[in-house]
Amino acid sequence: MRHVIIGNGPAGVIAAETLRAQRPQDDITLVGAEPEPPYSRMAIPYLLIGDIEEQGTYLRKGADHFAGLRITLRHAAARSIDTQARTVALSDGGTLAYDRLLLATGASPASPPIPGIDQPGVLTCWTLADARKIAASAQQGARVLQLGAGFIGCIIMEAIAARGAALTVVEMGDRVVPRMMPPGAAALIKRWCEAKGVRILTGAKAARIDRDATGLHVHLEGGETLDVDVVISATGVRPQIGFLKGSGIATETGILVDDRMQTSVADIYAAGDCVEAAEFGTGKRFVNAIQLNAADQARIAALNMAGRPTRSQGALAINVLDTFGLISSSFGQWQGVEGGDHTELSDEGAFKYLRLEFDGDMLVGATSLGLTEHVGVIRGLIQSRVRLGKWKARLMHDPTQVMAAYLACAQAAA
Ligand SMILES: Cc1cc2nc3c(=O)[nH]c(=O)nc-3n(C[C@H](O)[C@H](O)[C@H](O)COP(=O)(O)OP(=O)(O)OC[C@H]3O[C@@H](n4cnc5c(N)ncnc54)[C@H](O)[C@@H]3O)c2cc1C
Repeated sequence: MRHVIIGNGPAGVIAAETLRAQRPQDDITLVGAEPEPPYSRMAIPYLLIGDIEEQGTYLRKGADHFAGLRITLRHAAARSIDTQARTVALSDGGTLAYDRLLLATGASPASPPIPGIDQPGVLTCWTLADARKIAASAQQGARVLQLGAGFIGCIIMEAIAARGAALTVVEMGDRVVPRMMPPGAAALIKRWCEAKGVRILTGAKAARIDRDATGLHVHLEGGETLDVDVVISATGVRPQIGFLKGSGIATETGILVDDRMQTSVADIYAAGDCVEAAEFGTGKRFVNAIQLNAADQARIAALNMAGRPTRSQGALAINVLDTFGLISSSFGQWQGVEGGDHTELSDEGAFKYLRLEFDGDMLVGATSLGLTEHVGVIRGLIQSRVRLGKWKARLMHDPTQVMAAYLACAQAAA
């Protein structure tokens, strides 16, 4: 059987290795559009800080790792898919025939509709090629403006500041990470970053970017102009699905899949940032562009491709941020549910915050900051849909008792 995987990021690599473990005799081809060996975008901040070299971002270290597993690597972009003929047309003129196909093409940075956004000096931070451009321009003393303080924006701030650049962040939401953190936690993250020397403007929108011999000029709505050397746009990502036009594979924001990660076309599966899948707990479709999710979906897709029926429980939103060493995380329905209850604990001086969201006596969402010891237990309580019974009232009174609640409920269940 011939398996073709389009996209060689974490989802593609994990799927290829899972397939090989299940199907020792099958042909497996992993197609990637970027020139480097398969690498992890998550490692880019460490590369920019200087903690690792480019090779440190590679997902697998041995030069012959894939050859050893008889996984064929092909450097080319998939241009189109013929689902009748079961072939993929590649940018190098080649064609690959498949019996089972996995789409794992990830996402790419969304470009906000700001006049001047496509000028030289306006960069994104998504690929190794982007990282090289940032390293060349965001140097000691450079004035850098970052558009967006979302998930990626908050992760890369430290790396840019660590290069000695003077960093200003413009976020149009009313707070940092507005789609990931409630106001209480977001306020602490903002104050933490400001204490590290970053200027953060929330509720601020870039209206236009001009360029002249002195640099870039970012005009904000409301009149202020920021004169900078570099702009880094970190305003969200979009699934890379353009090449599927005309294929008949159903897409909306991302590629639509069922709980086996199969698309609307038989024998074609999808996993990772390119997918729009049902959310754990609500069933609502969303794009969950984090690496943990890419890995889970890739494993499930590959098991089904290998003939081992496996279903996903749904994608659980888990966002873990390291912003200048302040670890924050949000899980599941962190913004709460209608008719639900919540409890919030905040120690502003110590940068500690914990908020739990309940639906009846079930924990359905949480946000924590500066409290890493609770992260695994919170995830366990949400994913196992444990009925907390009398422990709900105790947690409402003292949310730090999540470990005790978890142990008591696990013991009761046993
Ligand atoms: C700076 C940064 C920091 C991050 N930090 C975190 C973090 O701390 N935690 C976390 O969970 N996530 C983090 N992420 C997000 C994480 O990297 C992604 O969720 C993850 O890479 C998704 O994996 P994927 O395999 O679905 O997609 P990708 O890693 O994007 O891989 C897809 C691959 O497919 C290739 N491709 C695309 N189109 C085609 C085509 N037509 N033909 C052939 N190949 C194609 C792409 O070039 C790419 O190599 C970070 C991302 C960035 C940029």
